[in-house]
Amino acid sequence: MRKLTLVAAAFATSTLTGALPAIADGHLKVVDEPLELTVHFHWRRSKGYIEDWPVEKAACDWTGVCLKDATVGKNASTSSEAMNLLIASGSLPDIVGGERVRQPINEYGPQGAFIPLNDLIDEHAPNIKAWFNEHPGLMEAISSWDGNMYYIPYLPDGKYARAWFIRQDWLDKLGLEQPNNIEELEQVLIAFRDQDPNGNGQKDEIPYFNRNWEETLRPINFWDARTSGSDTYHDFMVVDGRLQHPYATENFREGLKNLARWYAEGLIDPEIYTRGSSARDYLLSENLGGFTHDWFASTSGYNISLKDTVEGFNFIPFLPPESISGQRFQEHRRIPIKPDGWAISHTNQDPIATIKYFDFWFTEEGALLANFGIEGDHYEMIDGEPVYTDKILGSGRAVNSQMYEIGAQAFRGYPQDYRYEWQWTRESARKGIELYDTEDLLLDQFLGVAFKQEEQEVYDKYWPNLQTYMLERIQAWVLGNGDIEADWDEYVAQLENRGLNDVLGVMQAAYDRQYGG
Ligand code: CA
Repeated sequence: MRKLTLVAAAFATSTLTGALPAIADGHLKVVDEPLELTVHFHWRRSKGYIEDWPVEKAACDWTGVCLKDATVGKNASTSSEAMNLLIASGSLPDIVGGERVRQPINEYGPQGAFIPLNDLIDEHAPNIKAWFNEHPGLMEAISSWDGNMYYIPYLPDGKYARAWFIRQDWLDKLGLEQPNNIEELEQVLIAFRDQDPNGNGQKDEIPYFNRNWEETLRPINFWDARTSGSDTYHDFMVVDGRLQHPYATENFREGLKNLARWYAEGLIDPEIYTRGSSARDYLLSENLGGFTHDWFASTSGYNISLKDTVEGFNFIPFLPPESISGQRFQEHRRIPIKPDGWAISHTNQDPIATIKYFDFWFTEEGALLANFGIEGDHYEMIDGEPVYTDKILGSGRAVNSQMYEIGAQAFRGYPQDYRYEWQWTRESARKGIELYDTEDLLLDQFLGVAFKQEEQEVYDKYWPNLQTYMLERIQAWVLGNGDIEADWDEYVAQLENRGLNDVLGVMQAAYDRQYGG
């Protein structure tokens, strides 16, 4: 803490001069002479790696390593597209990072494009090493098929992500209890539809809504069906050590049949596939939406923002209702490793300094910088805890957006600190998180596999088209075009014809190799 006090003191002086805060004793320096490293860093929050970010300026000052933006394809709509442009350019900068880098780095690493990090970490990165020692199994999960680790991931913190939210004030008005199981939930949604809980005399309520069309499927959990095996939509899942796709299971057929029935009966937003990202804002502020599945922190904010405009508004998280077989689970959760982060390319002339620089972000000072920004400006240390300043918490703007703008919470390889989110999680959501903690709701996640080249080719040949086919059929069934019971055998046959078993075969081989199955 003494060192951190020095930072604050240095910053208090430097604000007068416009200079940067400095760690006075230089103990975070990773090089004797200043070192510039070029970086490809495509992510959705900014165009490349911004050299003027306060977080970058501090890191540069403290470590002596300064990053120079060399992002290829800054205007590309996805990071995968930018990565393709980078690879096609034939020359790699010193560091390759950003969003969704895991697959290409694990593919090109063993071919020599990126440097294996295992020995470098072992010898020069004590903080990264300690982190992975404290989180067993994750190094295996991010390693490539040759057993080497090629990138340092962005490592999310915290357990819960999305939760089920319901209009408690509507329940109260209609004299209903929070639904404890799927039967009660359906009765509540029918009451929301029919009994005018918003009191305007019109049958205009939307019982289930969501701002993400992918979440249309989530209620199939209540029929024991899965929508994904991880925090990525439509992902594969592992059942007793075997890879499956959730959309090719009998439970899915049953769940989707009921979901389509809900849609036909007006229990689901008729525009759920098209309303888009403003659906939550619109349906809550217009007093129309009753029930959704969304993030704890951001969804809890509506109780504050709408308290003066929607009378009695009380939208709160509640326990997932028990499924048809009496199981209570929360499918969506935080994944412990992200496909985002950064790697050292083969052109890098100083991999030791680079891994020491990567290690800086896992030191106490580096992790605070990565999560909270500059002490004295964006946060203060109070009783040993980083607390955002009024400038951040009082701005009325989302804290994560403000962090992205200063280069904090950027998708570099770093350990996220859940204290960052807890501070702007409203009281109602904090209670919800504590409620979720009273039961064992979370499921194990599929953490992904690294393919050999021939496996990747099988996957690329079949999977994108297969997924498109699945999603088209599913949307048609939800909207009432076709009947899943009648169509099921033909659908399963189509999945087989289109290569599902080949895809599952390569995934299983990779899974067994990687996780020792
Ligand atoms: Ca109404």
